[in-house]
Amino acid sequence: MSAIDGLPPLRDVIARHDLQAKKQLGQNFLLDLNLTAKIARAAGDLTGCDVIEVGPGPGGLTRGLLAEGARHVLAIEKDARAMSALAEISDFYPGRLHVINGDALEIDPLAYLTPPIRIVANLPYNVGTELLIRWLTPKEWPPFWQSLTLMFQKEVAERIVAKPGSKAYGRLALLAQWRSDAKIVMTLPPEAFVPAPKIHSAVVHLTALAEPRYPANPAVLNRVVAAGFNQRRKMLRASLKGLHPAIEDLLVAANIPPTARAEEIELERFCALARALAAAPR
Ligand code: SAM
Repeated sequence: MSAIDGLPPLRDVIARHDLQAKKQLGQNFLLDLNLTAKIARAAGDLTGCDVIEVGPGPGGLTRGLLAEGARHVLAIEKDARAMSALAEISDFYPGRLHVINGDALEIDPLAYLTPPIRIVANLPYNVGTELLIRWLTPKEWPPFWQSLTLMFQKEVAERIVAKPGSKAYGRLALLAQWRSDAKIVMTLPPEAFVPAPKIHSAVVHLTALAEPRYPANPAVLNRVVAAGFNQRRKMLRASLKGLHPAIEDLLVAANIPPTARAEEIELERFCALARALAAAPR
């Protein structure tokens, strides 16, 4: 029996349910339940919250979330092989774990949940980034979630929290930091996973702000940032030329030197430029 709950150790679960990791599903499992409980704690106070967990696999993190007091966990897992192992966890925590066998990119979890909602996941990195971008760009703000606690490749985590002037600074940093607080709360070596991936990983915790940090129209801001970073070595007066015939004047109005490059510019200035662009006659 494990220390955090009365359920069997994850190695036994994996052996009994024949859950050997499959590469094509990006499966690198966390088997240390003290570590999964620590990740659950990094998500904040879970008591009184519904939690969406994406990619529970054999359920290590799921058990951490439930042991840390989550009111209700909705777990979405693509691999049908994991269902019997996850059913043992829902039997152990009656009424608190609901498992859906499906693709998280195609399922709308909202129908099953009551706010406040937190999202926690250790996902394959490509799926994780795609979901992060969706969660950061909902139709309405504030979003349906209060926080996101997500495992990424360390290099991607660094892009999410990057500040101006660094190589990692770009669209992902601006998108994440415009309407959330984003922090790296844990870094993990390859050996924390079975099988061990080649790279280090990190957990990023994002908390949704009630309001964007600076006002801007999301579509215009996105256009400015995309154009600026698509040609990140160019001066902004060149990389943004296609956005408006008087782009140099708009840059000056937003307090941005037209000869600066995107990676030197702070979020506040990008928002000012998006506002100037939205207000400029064509
Ligand atoms: N959460 C478990 C842990 O920490 O040990 C498993 C992590 S493993 C890196 C990623 C999990 O996501 C696998 O169980 C995999 O089957 C699942 N997965 C992959 N793509 C998915 C998708 N599109 N939707 C839902 N689950 C997915």
